[in-house]
Amino acid sequence: MSRRLVGAKSRRPQVIHSLPTLTRTLARWRARRERIALVPTMGALHAGHLALIKRAQRRADRVIVSIFVNPTQFAPSEDLKNYPRTFTADLQALTRVGADLVWAPSAETMYPPGFATRVVPDGPAAVGLEDAFRPHFFAGVATVVAKLLLQCQADIATFGEKDYQQLKVVTLMARDLDLKTRIVAIPTVRESDGLALSSRNAYLSPVERAIAPTLHRVLVTCAKQIAAGHAIAGTLGQGRAALTEAGFVVDYLEARNAETLAPVQSAREGPLRLLVAARIGKTRLIDNIAG
Ligand code: AMP
Repeated sequence: MSRRLVGAKSRRPQVIHSLPTLTRTLARWRARRERIALVPTMGALHAGHLALIKRAQRRADRVIVSIFVNPTQFAPSEDLKNYPRTFTADLQALTRVGADLVWAPSAETMYPPGFATRVVPDGPAAVGLEDAFRPHFFAGVATVVAKLLLQCQADIATFGEKDYQQLKVVTLMARDLDLKTRIVAIPTVRESDGLALSSRNAYLSPVERAIAPTLHRVLVTCAKQIAAGHAIAGTLGQGRAALTEAGFVVDYLEARNAETLAPVQSAREGPLRLLVAARIGKTRLIDNIAG
């Protein structure tokens, strides 16, 4: 019987805040030739994160969940200060799911005084989607993910398709920098009405929450129309109008090459990915589906 099935459900994961302690624990696991998976998160865990953890458990002997709200991927105007922090509830969820270790470094541990190095990704990080609206975002993400992958020396790391551009950026970064970790993509977990689970859904008022599933509905409608042969530009124009009508301010609704995220003129250039970012009230939501 595997270690995880023996009473693991009620065992609190080990919580580590310092790099030397993490390194010692990893050395013990490595000495036993255990396969290690990393699930990077910013906490405020929900069923989407738990899907990443469960898949990691199927692929590895030990699962590390990192919880770090990374300051360098937030612009000064963004929600770093108010980002939901629910460490106690997160730990309870991680105990229930049977995670082995929580890696929770402080900002000072990740970025000590004098820190001066950034990973600045190109390619899918510079295609005019999230990067156009959050110019510092992907350098922040690539730098922190490179550090987490190197710190944890994981065999695999799971990332959600929910953040599709991020998934492509991280996958390419791991390949380009010859990191040893294989990036595994996990499909988006949704509420029953289609809204993608997100820590930021907690910001939505009841009225905004009722409108929010329109984002996914519009993506599905556009994908069906494009598959039926309708022109991409016209279809997306109608989609944007439907979102505006519902109360969103649309940052983008685009059809892109699913691999490179380059713009496409026709469905024949597929496989496609439809990606959207839109604001409702003060909350910015993103989503995407296969085209
Ligand atoms: P975050 O804590 O928002 O930075 O997300 C941590 C990881 O969870 C990222 O790889 C996300 O793509 C993934 N994730 C977030 N929401 C979902 C979801 N609804 N379904 C699947 N994965 C998700």
